[in-house]
Amino acid sequence: MLHKDLEMDDTFKHQGWRQQMIKKLREKGVFGEDVLRAMSQVPRHLFLETALDYMAYEDKALPISCGQTISQPSTVAFQSELLDAKPDMKVLEVGTGSGYQTAVLCSMGLRVFSIERQKDLFDITKDLLIKLQYRAKCFLGDGYAGLPQYAPFDRIIITCGAPEIPQALLDQLKVGGVMVIPVGGTHQEMTRIEKHGDKPTDLVIQHYGDCNFVPMLNKLDYGAKP
Ligand code: SAH
Repeated sequence: MLHKDLEMDDTFKHQGWRQQMIKKLREKGVFGEDVLRAMSQVPRHLFLETALDYMAYEDKALPISCGQTISQPSTVAFQSELLDAKPDMKVLEVGTGSGYQTAVLCSMGLRVFSIERQKDLFDITKDLLIKLQYRAKCFLGDGYAGLPQYAPFDRIIITCGAPEIPQALLDQLKVGGVMVIPVGGTHQEMTRIEKHGDKPTDLVIQHYGDCNFVPMLNKLDYGAKP
């Protein structure tokens, strides 16, 4: 994997591409300035292999290691917007992947706890986030279980497709909290849940259209090594 260990450059060329990306996102008229400002600060190309550099600021999902994908910028903006988070809130992210969404959440001033199930990806991304000085706490673990030791969370964001809303994660969401989760099989529906109390009838669930994430799987993957 050709992550840029030494050349962490954010050149004028990349900055220019990024401003173009932000301009296009702004033209869609659905994302708030807080989210756009955060995304304008995160060098997405550094979360990709060097060979994909020139595509980093197109509105595309792209391959990362371990057969996974980095979400497309408009999806990252959309999930971040739906979270409706305020600085200093405690956020649980399931599916660290490349770490790009994690970095955007950090740039929004949130305290981020992120879980990844694939050891190889976890190792690469944890190091990258440290190098880029994003202060997320990264965990190798099963997102279905969440992080009960750090609960409750103000916000929970899931960046893989869940067959259903995991009860353990609902339990770890504060009353008054919001969860954003793609729910479904091969295709999912972007779903936003507001938790107004502890009973199932206290959940306000809204749907925001079709989306297409890699699946949320339920076993840890320690990589290909024997
Ligand atoms: N936000 C990431 C998305 C990566 S793809 C990015 O933009 O790069 C989704 C990630 O979820 C993958 O890395 C996959 O390994 C991870 N994942 C799938 N099921 C999981 C689970 N149960 N717990 C934690 N991570 C999981």
